[in-house]
Amino acid sequence: MCWRNERPALPHGRATAPAAIGFRKARGRVPASGAPVPEISSSCKSCQFCLPLRSPIKMSTQTIESETAREIISYDPATGEEIGRAPLAGGRDVRDALKRARAAQPAWAGLSFRERGQVILRARKIVLAQLEEIGRLISRETGKPVAEAISMEIIPTLDLMHYFAHSTERLLRPQKIDIGNYGLMGRSSQVIYKPLGVVGIISPWNFPWATPLDEVVMSLMAGNAVVLKPSELTPLSALKIGEIFKQALLPTGLLEIVTGDGTTGAALTEAGTDKIMFTGSVETGKRVAESAARHLTPTVLELGGKDPMIVLADANLQSAARAAIWGAFCNAGQACASVERCYVHESIATEFIDLVVKETRALKQDKATESNIDVGAMSNEKQVRIVEEHIADASSRGARVLTGGRRTQNLSGLFYEPTVITEVDHSMDLMRNETFGPVLPIMTFKTDDEAIRLANDSIYGLTASVFTSNMRRGRRLAEQIEAGTVMVNEVVYTHAVAQTPWGGVKQSGYGRTHGRLGLLELVTPQHIHVNRVPLVPDVWWFPYSTGAGLLFRRLARRFTTGSFLQASLLLPQMIRRLLERRQ
Ligand code: NDP
Repeated sequence: MCWRNERPALPHGRATAPAAIGFRKARGRVPASGAPVPEISSSCKSCQFCLPLRSPIKMSTQTIESETAREIISYDPATGEEIGRAPLAGGRDVRDALKRARAAQPAWAGLSFRERGQVILRARKIVLAQLEEIGRLISRETGKPVAEAISMEIIPTLDLMHYFAHSTERLLRPQKIDIGNYGLMGRSSQVIYKPLGVVGIISPWNFPWATPLDEVVMSLMAGNAVVLKPSELTPLSALKIGEIFKQALLPTGLLEIVTGDGTTGAALTEAGTDKIMFTGSVETGKRVAESAARHLTPTVLELGGKDPMIVLADANLQSAARAAIWGAFCNAGQACASVERCYVHESIATEFIDLVVKETRALKQDKATESNIDVGAMSNEKQVRIVEEHIADASSRGARVLTGGRRTQNLSGLFYEPTVITEVDHSMDLMRNETFGPVLPIMTFKTDDEAIRLANDSIYGLTASVFTSNMRRGRRLAEQIEAGTVMVNEVVYTHAVAQTPWGGVKQSGYGRTHGRLGLLELVTPQHIHVNRVPLVPDVWWFPYSTGAGLLFRRLARRFTTGSFLQASLLLPQMIRRLLERRQ
């Protein structure tokens, strides 16, 4: 059965270059959780979306024959040109990839951190040597300017590779635990961190290089193997990651890349990996969590956001305005941490909005290949339509578009004008749902409490920001905002700071990537407890007796206070209990 053909309502545009760029690669969706994942059979001859393969499929570090013999095509959203093709892996491909990863992992886990780090650093060198080529590839697959591909994807990842190659050993050093009064009884405890095994990574299209590569590096450094399923919209960036690691001599099987669509992702969640690191939408995240729960596979869900920015009256307005437009329009607004709602104090609103509009009108938008471009194309038609719907809904309810508010007229690709819009309120989709496009809605507030209430009036909680010249006040407000990360006088960028945790609260997901907390998601903590005086039986062992009962009651009162003095007062009774055993 060809599942794709059963969804005629979805514009597809896979197999042929799109007549209109508007129909570039619409998203394949797998059935709701619980339904069996359809296998795509090679007998589908009539499907206009499935192409026969011309060559054996290259998957990551090796060449294999695919069961499905189909491929996906990657297009440049700025021009509609085909960039290249990648295999559409089916369920068996995914299971085979997992088998290879499982076979390769134990030897890798047996290496020292230093040895693993050497591979990562070799890969890092290769990335640096191919910086321009990689920047252009990311730019062509996503529509973002090359400069942005380098600044927002490649630089942070180079930094992260350096950090985890050198720091993982320290971050995962065995930890001695203070066990209080049990220590007096000759015991000690330590937590050691062991690799999970095979980590499944499912990543989206908006940062096709940084999002998967960061997690690949951390997983590998922790001693795991990886099966990576990138978005169907950006398979070539992921295959490039595979190529880099192959050149860096990462042993075969440790990084398996299964390109494909939602069915491939669903197959990975069912395949039995030891963890799923999922980055994507709330809707798909819930399906992934359900599917993983059936196998008790732990998950980290990095989902969407509707991130608020609060500008207090004492903020530096020039700097806040610049931050707002970069935060809203970088990556054409397609960042999970984009500034999607801006709340400005009423006393400075006019001045702030004037600055924002002026700066926005000065932005240059064009094809990503031009060097001085600020805002590139959006990545796919579905996303452009969501932006259009949000603007139309807000406008019909009285919002005012101050600049932008439509597709870019003189460009034929998937371009949407950077848009500033005011007179918005929380009844509008634009203020409630993720827009994921170059739109900055601005609302005013009167008091700090109102600003916090508005910021927290959302199902999401990924990042947020507060702009003020009073750091203490900024910090106080930051602590009241419901979000995984709150920045004071900064926006968006902390995903790039490898040392800090990244993740959300509420519907923005759970678990963390990056930093020590992110690394801990990729290992199993094991508690090792040692009794250094094994010849002395524990007082709580059999046989129970009247004396034992008495002692237990005293233990309850004194031992559990945590006080060394109180516990030592029990010493005579404990000795009596030991002697009682001997009789
Ligand atoms: P999707 O949820 O559509 O897709 C994410 C990944 O899941 C893709 O690889 C997709 O494959 C795959 N997938 C689709 N269906 C299934 C399924 N049933 N089981 C397993 N995997 C599946 O998200 P987008 O790609 O549209 O990405 C945009 C979203 O990602 C936004 O909401 C954004 O906020 C969020 N995001 C969150 C980040 C964070 O750190 N919190 C960072 C970046 C983005 P395919 O594309 O081939 O269909």
